[in-house]
Amino acid sequence: MTPPFPYAFENYPLAPMTLYKVGGPARLALVPRTREEIIEGYSWMVKQPGPKLVLGGGSNVLIADDGYPGIVIFTNALTGIEQLGPDRYYLEGGAVLDDIVRGVLIKNNYDGTGGLTGIPGSVGGAIYMNAGTVNGTICQLMESVDVLLDGGVRTIPMEESLYGYRGQTFCPPIGLILGGTFVFRRAEKDQQAIYDHYIERRRRTQPPGNSCGSVFKNPQNDHAGRLIEACKLKGTRRGGAVVSEMHANFIVNEGGATCADILALIDVVKRTVKEQFGVQLEEEVKIFGLRERDAARSA
Ligand SMILES: Cc1cc2nc3c(=O)[nH]c(=O)nc-3n(C[C@H](O)[C@H](O)[C@H](O)COP(=O)(O)OP(=O)(O)OC[C@H]3O[C@@H](n4cnc5c(N)ncnc54)[C@H](O)[C@@H]3O)c2cc1C
Repeated sequence: MTPPFPYAFENYPLAPMTLYKVGGPARLALVPRTREEIIEGYSWMVKQPGPKLVLGGGSNVLIADDGYPGIVIFTNALTGIEQLGPDRYYLEGGAVLDDIVRGVLIKNNYDGTGGLTGIPGSVGGAIYMNAGTVNGTICQLMESVDVLLDGGVRTIPMEESLYGYRGQTFCPPIGLILGGTFVFRRAEKDQQAIYDHYIERRRRTQPPGNSCGSVFKNPQNDHAGRLIEACKLKGTRRGGAVVSEMHANFIVNEGGATCADILALIDVVKRTVKEQFGVQLEEEVKIFGLRERDAARSA
């Protein structure tokens, strides 16, 4: 059923909404223009049968070639940034993370720039993934998070026990992170210099072009990239997708790659690393549309 919302679209192309630029359309997309429409659209969406998905900047997702057989809601309208007090801010989930890094952290010389520099996507997506680097992650900077759920908005005080390496337990897959309260600390080191340093480092070590960043999580005490490189898989191709020569944990869409091409490479990498090192790699990228279609078929 299509709702009577002016921001509801059937058969909505998803590839342009992701950094990978692959995948088919969503059966139905809600593209709200305001926070009120997000709450209205979400409240309607959660009552519908079938799969549902929240999408931010699309920088950590891979969409199936046949598309997403359910409802997708976008968070881009949540762009608000409000200063609540000295060093305390409310940041909405659809705000662009890099805008926050440059416009809030660097501008005020707050700690945290090192962990968040160069990560594409939205604040909400970053919170959902607990995005970051060895220099720190986003949830470490938060006082509380607002999650929209079936029963309404829940404000959850942030605690260390609620998040870990590229994940968290406060927002279920069907939850929508509306935003959160952040408390920043003034830094001693110049944050602009830290930003410039890490942007330059990413330029030297990570391939440009269409990707999702690291495809696999790092196994404990090791690096997925090191293992993949040691298996001599750099440069391995399937269709338009290639294991990057620059960074083995990146699979790049060089143009015209399909989701099937990328999945085939994921499979080769996982099998080879398991065979040669006995290590089972786990995807960091979130894959949508495959399991959901299988589930619909077997229902
Ligand atoms: C070149 C490149 C470099 C990268 N480097 C890093 C890095 O250094 N560290 C790192 O951690 N990641 C990195 N990433 C991965 C990615 O940028 C992060 O995971 C990012 O935080 C995802 O945000 P997004 O808004 O794009 O989320 P999306 O890709 O849109 O979604 C990712 C997941 O979050 C969920 N989600 C998104 N928004 C919300 C919301 N508001 N509420 C609830 N759920 C939501 C989605 O359902 C999905 O499960 C990189 C990616 C690229 C392409």
